[in-house]
Amino acid sequence: MSVSKPYYDVIIVGAGISGIGAAYHLQEKCPNKSFTILEGRDTIGGTWDLFRYPGIRSDSDMYTLGFSFNPWLSSKSIADGPTILQYIKDTATKFGIDKKIQFNNMVKDASWSDQTSTWTVTVQSGDKNSQMECGFLFMCSGYYSYSEGYLPEFPGYNDFKGKIVHPQFWDEKLDYKDKNVVIIGSGATAVTLAPEMSKLAKNVVMLQRTPTYMITLPSEDKIALGIRKALPESTAYEVIRWKNILTNMGFYNAAQSFPVPIRKFLMKTVELQLGKHYKEEDFNPPYNPWDQRLCAVPDSDFFKAIKKKKMEIVTDHIETFTKDGILLKSGKELKADIIITATGLKLQFLGGMTVHVNGKEIQTSEGHVYRGTMISDVPNFAVTVGYTNSSWTLKCDLVSGFVTRILKYMDKEGYKRVVPRFDVSKYESSPLLNFDAGYVKRAAKNLPKQGSKAPWKVYQNYVYDLVTLKISPPSDKHLEYA
Ligand SMILES: Cc1cc2nc3c(=O)[nH]c(=O)nc-3n(C[C@H](O)[C@H](O)[C@H](O)COP(=O)(O)OP(=O)(O)OC[C@H]3O[C@@H](n4cnc5c(N)ncnc54)[C@H](O)[C@@H]3O)c2cc1C
Repeated sequence: MSVSKPYYDVIIVGAGISGIGAAYHLQEKCPNKSFTILEGRDTIGGTWDLFRYPGIRSDSDMYTLGFSFNPWLSSKSIADGPTILQYIKDTATKFGIDKKIQFNNMVKDASWSDQTSTWTVTVQSGDKNSQMECGFLFMCSGYYSYSEGYLPEFPGYNDFKGKIVHPQFWDEKLDYKDKNVVIIGSGATAVTLAPEMSKLAKNVVMLQRTPTYMITLPSEDKIALGIRKALPESTAYEVIRWKNILTNMGFYNAAQSFPVPIRKFLMKTVELQLGKHYKEEDFNPPYNPWDQRLCAVPDSDFFKAIKKKKMEIVTDHIETFTKDGILLKSGKELKADIIITATGLKLQFLGGMTVHVNGKEIQTSEGHVYRGTMISDVPNFAVTVGYTNSSWTLKCDLVSGFVTRILKYMDKEGYKRVVPRFDVSKYESSPLLNFDAGYVKRAAKNLPKQGSKAPWKVYQNYVYDLVTLKISPPSDKHLEYA
């Protein structure tokens, strides 16, 4: 006897910041659509719940990382993880989205059938598998593995007698008071952790192979606070968002067009803050500004810790871990009680799930992204991938709006299926994320590609996406409706 499977018009996968945003758009703009959110973990918030290391905070301003439809009201623009998590939870409750989430439901496979125009989604809950069906599948599953962080192979790793911790799996009982700590890495996590741990530790060394560009930002945006005093709440939020969007875009474009002066500017501002503690080799990346994400330093905390001599940067290569620390290629040895491997994320597309279309497994890496969100030859399917050069959510918000426009258009015209078709004879292909960061390069072969021209090219430009995703018609020659 066949058991009927629960059916939803839309299934959203993931209850992180983009899943909650997607649900809001769906219920606002397509109130007649049934939907559910399937979340593999037992809680809401994704990234902002998973990461628990000391000092965890945003790297971009919360006026743009926050939801477009629910103003960010805290006074801090660069905010700590728990405040962001609470904001996501409060938003879900405020709009009744929390009731739509089915926790502990890890999506393992999605199989599309042209015959029924439905997705059959296989879900793992504990040791049980079950199935659900939907008309449209909306992936908001983030971009990295929750079960594994990235850890390079370090010679002698097992010889080290102290504790080794990866920031993705922080041990909340870790006692680092009066301990010698070495943090390996130079990304946002290392730059956040180092000054924070230096408050209690005996000494903190941030050991980097490659320096990162750093930019000091005030954690409280005084202009934004002024605007909030002068204007009604929602108008102020809109004005501040545009101020920040345009400032970030202006700076990004300046860095791309004039890398030499921007590089000098960034390095000079660090030198001015560090004075005699400045060593050029520590702040002199071998790539141009914004070829990788810039690291924000709120209220100069990182530089203040160096000046207090509670923390130092060492730029060198690891020869081997030793019993007592790390031996460097230069011959220097760093003594450590604790080593933090802030070596990054393991990128994972579509939450690790497999995809079948009409019985055939699809390698999404062979597909091309349409407007940065749908994948060629995969019907009724969208995925949120945020910006790498601006706040992630800005793009997710536009994508969610676009999906609702597609759904409404299909209803109006009586269509059951929409598939983007990429014409290989007309466009060249390139990697989806044109970004120099290690974790992006490591995963490039698993990601879909982009094309050489619109609508297959990903521009990483909010104003361009605003026009194409929010305003231009949801039908064109690249989308095959049936
Ligand atoms: C430490 C850290 C700091 C960051 N700071 C910033 C910042 O300041 N600004 C910025 O723009 N970006 C930042 N990012 C990037 C950040 O991840 C995004 O901004 C944003 O939080 C991603 O939200 P998301 O909902 O798309 O994905 P996630 O937060 O990763 O949420 C995905 C959700 O989907 C669930 N899921 C995944 N796969 C499945 C599956 N198969 N079945 C069911 N559920 C599944 C996960 O459990 C999770 O709850 C940061 C990332 C990290 C790691």
